[in-house]
Amino acid sequence: MTPKILILGAGGQIGSELTFKLRTLYGEEAVIASDINKNNLEVVNSGPFECINAKDYDGIKDCIIKYNIKKVYLMAAMLSASGEKHPLAAWDLNMTSLFNVLNLAKEGYIESIFWPSSIAVFGHTTPRHNTPQHTIMEPSTVYGISKLSGERWCEYYKEKYNIDVRSLRYPGIISWKTKPGGGTTDYAIDIFHKAILEEHYNCFLSEDTELPMMYMDDAINATIELMQASKDDISVASYNLAAISFTPKEIAATIKDLIPEFSIDYTPDFRQDIADSWPASIDDSLARKDWNWQHQFGLSDITKAMLTNLENHYKLNGV
Ligand code: NAD
Repeated sequence: MTPKILILGAGGQIGSELTFKLRTLYGEEAVIASDINKNNLEVVNSGPFECINAKDYDGIKDCIIKYNIKKVYLMAAMLSASGEKHPLAAWDLNMTSLFNVLNLAKEGYIESIFWPSSIAVFGHTTPRHNTPQHTIMEPSTVYGISKLSGERWCEYYKEKYNIDVRSLRYPGIISWKTKPGGGTTDYAIDIFHKAILEEHYNCFLSEDTELPMMYMDDAINATIELMQASKDDISVASYNLAAISFTPKEIAATIKDLIPEFSIDYTPDFRQDIADSWPASIDDSLARKDWNWQHQFGLSDITKAMLTNLENHYKLNGV
């Protein structure tokens, strides 16, 4: 049987688009999508799909044996804003799922793993601008603590057991197909929906909160390029990854260029504290050097792509 790919958490914002792209590259049957629920019908209907709880070691193992899975992308997690509401559940999901795939690799069931980390691994004491690959890391959110711990465990399994596990510290990912899953950078998606539907947005971060962001197409390309790179070129367990940085005020101005009636106001909530603990911009020169990472989308490209795709989406759905 030809070796196959398993995606855990394939129904989510990034997992869904990764599923579509990997199916385009390797064929529908080569990519097994899975999630704890069947809510994302586009994913469920686009090729093989299994209901799997990423916390269920035996469930993942059975699927790996059934389909001859060699590569696993673990995209199931609880994100930053949801994690602050459910700290222990976030820790449990984020760590148990990671140990499950690391141990399945250690036991010889899988050959390589992709596991996403996040800019949430950094904290108040980290240099905020052009944050280096190696620096002070004292995250203040449960999500960030789980991602930093996960990075150390990935490094440990890599060094002790020669496990091929690769990881990226994603910035905020902007996309239109699947709604985001409870993160602090979600405002940079909500703002486009509201711009089209109401020509107004009430932002939950203050106008000058600068954060690193990336368009989904860039994030998917980075993920696939990292996994296609030669093992010898990978020098760290988890890479800094960047494209652009902007504030709510700056993104609002690019939207106003295309929708002149658009207006914005600001009511920061608990997510402001989370955002204030994260970097404003990231130095990803190691990724650029090791496996030639290059982003494509700037702020005005993202704004045009988001508005065009969402306008079509709402028209098709009769809104
Ligand atoms: P998401 O919340 O949109 O999707 C997560 C998916 O996991 C959902 O479909 C959910 O149903 C599924 N899931 C939840 N619990 C599960 C379980 N027990 N078993 C199986 N599936 C389960 O998240 P996302 O935005 O697609 O993020 C994917 C990964 O990328 C996560 O590790 C996240 O921490 C990381 N990340 C995302 C961003 C971003 O901006 N979206 C930024 C940095 C890092």
